[in-house]
Amino acid sequence: MLQELADKPTILLVDDEKANLKILTDLLKPNAKTLVAKSGAQALQKAKDLFPDIILLDVVMPDMDGFEVIKKLKSDPSTQSIPVIFITGLTDVNFEEKGLELGACDYIQKPFHAAIVRARVQLHLQLLRQRRMLEELALIDPLTTIANRRKFEQVIDIELRSAMRTGEPLSIAVIDIDFFKQFNDTAGHSAGDMALAEVANGIQSQLKRPRDFVARIGGEEFVVVLPNTDSVSADMLLNQCRSAVASLKIPHPTATPYQVVTISSGGITCKPSSLSDKDDILNRADNMLYEAKNTGRNQVLWDELPN
Ligand code: GH3
Ligand code: MG
Ligand code: MG
Repeated sequence: MLQELADKPTILLVDDEKANLKILTDLLKPNAKTLVAKSGAQALQKAKDLFPDIILLDVVMPDMDGFEVIKKLKSDPSTQSIPVIFITGLTDVNFEEKGLELGACDYIQKPFHAAIVRARVQLHLQLLRQRRMLEELALIDPLTTIANRRKFEQVIDIELRSAMRTGEPLSIAVIDIDFFKQFNDTAGHSAGDMALAEVANGIQSQLKRPRDFVARIGGEEFVVVLPNTDSVSADMLLNQCRSAVASLKIPHPTATPYQVVTISSGGITCKPSSLSDKDDILNRADNMLYEAKNTGRNQVLWDELPN
């Protein structure tokens, strides 16, 4: 999961010489939380467990050298995105080339100049901040500011795997605004855009648990993912979303019989097995939505897959 860079970023310092670790710690401590590792193995463990924002890595170390360490970091999905700066007494350009080829973002030679180490670390932290901001933005729908379809694809994969592992029920609902074409045709497209944002907000306001999730997956379509939620609770929650949207009282003169903007939902609860297919689950939710549309709208219809 993406995480914001804290005010004080965490820097992992890796060097087999205590004196070097002390100098680097003193140098960086005013602006960062520093962690130390005295060997390659310890560095890998701390990188995995503590997920530092950046790693300063020595090359020449007994047992496992820095080149081995970076190879392992880059081949593990949980650590591969952590920027690594080599800081080493190896001054030959061939080593520098090798370090950069292995995926290091920078290479600083010892003996180092304190201000330069500080400046380079700051630069890479700044780049990291910008990268995380862009990654975050790429997963947000700008109109409603809730998650977009790309984020939904990530979340559904994670939650399906988690539900398979734990055997907990997973509930998924698709939501579609009723008579929204008419709304646009009468109130105008920008009023439609505003209504979409309000509806998204209304749905989101009902989701209380940290892993409850809503995304806008199409023009006027949303999907809600409710981990560890049975069909009774999920149906109830989606009805709360439905009420929340109706009680926004967004005027819609041609929507019969309520004359306000409403939503319809189709949901499915399943205990995913390795045989459960994401598309099949979503199709079933879509079928329920289709039924909800054909039998009156402004309602929630739910389906349950047998275990
Ligand atoms: P139903 O109750 O059966 O869902 O009818 P509907 O009119 O909502 O369904 P339809 O799929 O025919 O129309 C969806 C409309 O949603 C089409 C378009 O006018 C509107 N729409 C889709 N995306 C956007 C958007 O980003 N902004 C605005 N303003 N309108 C959108
Ligand atoms: Mg639609
Ligand atoms: Mg619609």
